[in-house]
Amino acid sequence: MLLIKNGRVMDPKTGLDQVCDVLVQDGKIIKIAPEVKEEGAETIDASGLVVAPGLVDIHVHFREPGQTHKEDIHTGSLAAAAGGFTTVVMMANTSPTISDVETLKEVLDSAAKEKINVKTVATITKNFNGQDLTDFKALLAAGAVGFSDDGIPLESSKVVKEAMEEAKKLNTFISLHEEDPGLNGILGFNENIAKEHFHICGATGVAEYAMMARDVMIAYATKAHVHIQHLSKEESVKVVEFAQGLGAQVTAEVAPQHFSKTEALLLTQGSNAKMNPPLRLESDRRAVIEGLKSGVITVIATDHAPHHADEKNVEDITKAPSGMTGLETSLSLGLTYLVEAGELSLMELLGKMTYNPAKLYNFEAGYLAENGPADITIFDAKADRLVDSHFASKATNSPFIGEALKGQVKYTICKGQIVYQN
Ligand SMILES: [Zn+2]
Repeated sequence: MLLIKNGRVMDPKTGLDQVCDVLVQDGKIIKIAPEVKEEGAETIDASGLVVAPGLVDIHVHFREPGQTHKEDIHTGSLAAAAGGFTTVVMMANTSPTISDVETLKEVLDSAAKEKINVKTVATITKNFNGQDLTDFKALLAAGAVGFSDDGIPLESSKVVKEAMEEAKKLNTFISLHEEDPGLNGILGFNENIAKEHFHICGATGVAEYAMMARDVMIAYATKAHVHIQHLSKEESVKVVEFAQGLGAQVTAEVAPQHFSKTEALLLTQGSNAKMNPPLRLESDRRAVIEGLKSGVITVIATDHAPHHADEKNVEDITKAPSGMTGLETSLSLGLTYLVEAGELSLMELLGKMTYNPAKLYNFEAGYLAENGPADITIFDAKADRLVDSHFASKATNSPFIGEALKGQVKYTICKGQIVYQN
């Protein structure tokens, strides 16, 4: 038995926000009350700390199979636990891609060895060919939780429509990375800084919001649910809001980097600040924060994208791969740029990092209740933290190394077991 004493217990599902004790046994929470006494239980003193549901991240890249020099399911899971996450959803752009039941089973066998909950989507199209749908029904039956070709946007509107119709039939949804290649330049650099500083044609806003506008309207017409991944533009927030206003089933996520930073970070952090979609303008950063506040955006997801230092540190920055390692800074970025900045309450932040993403996928996660799962994150919301390069992830491609942020994860507990302690 594990007894968590005197923590500020916060549950976004019910709104509970009270100093309480939490008793855990056999992977479940068995009691939450102002005072719980239990002789012989292992005790954690959580005085001054927040006791929250284990964080849920629905957008991570763990690179297994195929690119395990960057990350693997084990190190990705350790990074998740260090960041306070107890449930993650892997993207399917592995090598091979997760497009068939055989590959899916390999991935899930590996995931089952971890102490946190590692789930995965499968691809929408076979090996990302953009044309032929995978066998959604068989992949769902084998344990895929959803579908995404994240990384490779779907150019064919016909395929998007077919995928939405198939997903709807099976009571699931598709998630889309929206950057139309036909409207884009070199990825990873927002168009403004690309032109002014790098003298190249960069990643345009229209590539994102035009493709998104197409897809939310296909969702409207088919009455299917579409989830928009890592939106980054002011206009994109308006597109989602418009579609939701029409009654379309559209949900959206934003990555911490997009509400924290602008394209200027490329000038100081180089390729570690290169990502798809790219960091944008201050007006875009403000707009995604407003989208979080209004509820248009319900989910914060990291897009954890580890890369090896040798790949990132190439002479020509346009040749470096896009993406940043994100699991171990996500909570701190939310605490710093949303809560400390006065944009969201701590409860609102937790809702977007626990209950909302769990609800999207119908996971038995993201809340704290008696008889509920003992997936719990205990953190100091006020602690000062200087981000250093000692990550549990294999990768160190974070543009936040050296930055002073708020918040420190103290314990991550999953299925009743302490899986991370600081
Ligand atoms: Zn993506």
